[in-house]
Amino acid sequence: MYRLYFRHQPTRRTGDMNFFSTNNPNHSVDFQSAVLNSLPQDNGLYFPENIPALPTSFFKDLTSKSKADIGFEVAKAFIGNEIPADRLHQIVSETIDFELPLVEVSPCIHALELFHGPTWAFKDVGARFLSRCTGYFMEAQDQEVHVLVATSGDTGSAVAAGFHGIPGIRVTILFPRGKVSGIQQLQLTTWGGNIRALEVDGTFDDCQALVKQAFLDKELNAKLRLSSANSINIARLIPQSFYYFYAFQQLPDWENVVVAVPSGNYGNLTAGLLAWKMGLPIHRFIAASNANRIVPDYLETGTYTPKLSVQTYANAMDVGAPSNFTRMNTLFAQDHAAITQHISGFSLTDPDILHEIKTVYDRHHYLLDPHGAIGHAALRTHLQPHEQGIFLETAHPVKFLDVIEKALGTAPDYSAKVRQWTSKTQQFDSIPKDYLSFRDRLM
Ligand SMILES: *Cc1c(COP(=O)(O)O)cnc(C)c1O
Repeated sequence: MYRLYFRHQPTRRTGDMNFFSTNNPNHSVDFQSAVLNSLPQDNGLYFPENIPALPTSFFKDLTSKSKADIGFEVAKAFIGNEIPADRLHQIVSETIDFELPLVEVSPCIHALELFHGPTWAFKDVGARFLSRCTGYFMEAQDQEVHVLVATSGDTGSAVAAGFHGIPGIRVTILFPRGKVSGIQQLQLTTWGGNIRALEVDGTFDDCQALVKQAFLDKELNAKLRLSSANSINIARLIPQSFYYFYAFQQLPDWENVVVAVPSGNYGNLTAGLLAWKMGLPIHRFIAASNANRIVPDYLETGTYTPKLSVQTYANAMDVGAPSNFTRMNTLFAQDHAAITQHISGFSLTDPDILHEIKTVYDRHHYLLDPHGAIGHAALRTHLQPHEQGIFLETAHPVKFLDVIEKALGTAPDYSAKVRQWTSKTQQFDSIPKDYLSFRDRLM
C-alpha cells in the first residue's frame, strides 16, 4: 500500500534507513545523526525516507506476539541494522515496560491508556526510547553527553525519568519557578544521580532562551558535548507508533476503527499515521484539538495559519504552531484533499471539556483527563453507526486535579497514588534568569 511520496532516493548502506529533512529531501542522514542532531540545520524535521509496509503474517499473528516483539519489528523497520537486533529488542522492551491497556468506556468507544509509565503521561514512551538510543550511541564515544531541557512541566519529568541512570549522559532540566504544578515539580526534582534540576526565576520562555544561548556558546560547546531531548526528535516519534499496534492487539474486531487523537504538536497523530502506512488497518483519524484549532481549521479550509496559543484546561495541547504539521504534510505530499480523506478535525472549548468529564464519569464511571476528554467527545459526536472508536488517554487525571474538581465539584482521593512522590526529597538549585549564572552551573 506504500507509495513513494518524494523524488530523491539517496544512496544508503544496505539494511539501513535514512532520514531526510522536510525542508530538503536531498539532505538525509542515518539514524544516529538524526537522533544526536535532533534537528537538521535547515530547520526542517527529520522524516523516514521510506515507510516500510509490514508483512501480512505480522498482522495475522499480532494477538499472539509480545509487546516487545511488536515494538521491535516496528522499530527495526525504521532503524535497520544501525542498532544490533538484540540491543534494539532490549531498548524496546525497557521502553514499554508498563501497561498500555485498551479499556472499554462504552460499547463502541475504547480508551487507549498511555499514562501507566513513571510520570503518568504518554511522553514517557518517547523519552525512554530516545534516552536508550542515545545511551547506545554514546557507548562508542569517549565524551559524556550533556542533555539540556527547558520544560513547562510534563516534558521535563518524562525526560528526567527516561534518562535517569543511563550511563554516559547527564541531564540538566530548567523549570520556571512557581509555574509548574506540585506533582510536576516533584517529578522534576526528586531523581538525583545524573539528573539535575534548576529552578529559574522567570518564565518557560526564559528557560528556553537560556538553553538556546547555551547551544550558541562556542566556549561552552568546546568543553561540553551538548544535546537536546527535543520533542521533535525522531527517536521520540518512532516508539509512539508502537501503541497503535497494541491497541489493535487488544481489539477483537478490526472493522471500521476510528482513532481520535488529542493533539497539540501532533506527534501522536503523526506516529499513528506511520502505523497506518505500515499497514495497520485504521479506517480514519480525528485530529482532536482544544480551542487552539490550527489543524482542524486547516482541514476545513485548506489554509494553514499558525497563531499565538491560547490557554485552555487541556494545557499540554496549547500550541499555536504545531511542530509536526510539516511531517503530516510531507506524508501526504502537501495534498490537502488526500489528508482530508483520512483525517477530519474536531475541537472542544473549555466549558465543554468540563461537561465531557462530568457526563462520562456519571454515565460510564470512567474518569477522563482534560486531554482525553476531547478525544472522547470527538468520537461520541462523530462516530458513524457502523464504526467503532479508540481515543488516546494521554495523561492520568491525577495530573489535572484542579480541572477534575471544577468538572465534578469534587476530586477523587488520589493520596495513595501521589504518596510515591510526596515521600521523596526534592533537590534543585535556584538561579536568576541571566545566562552567566546558568553557564556557571554547567561548567
Ligand atoms: C504532550 C501532550 C499532548 C499533545 O501531544 P502531541 O503529540 O504534541 O500532539 C496531549 N496530551 C498530553 C497529556 C500531553 O502531555
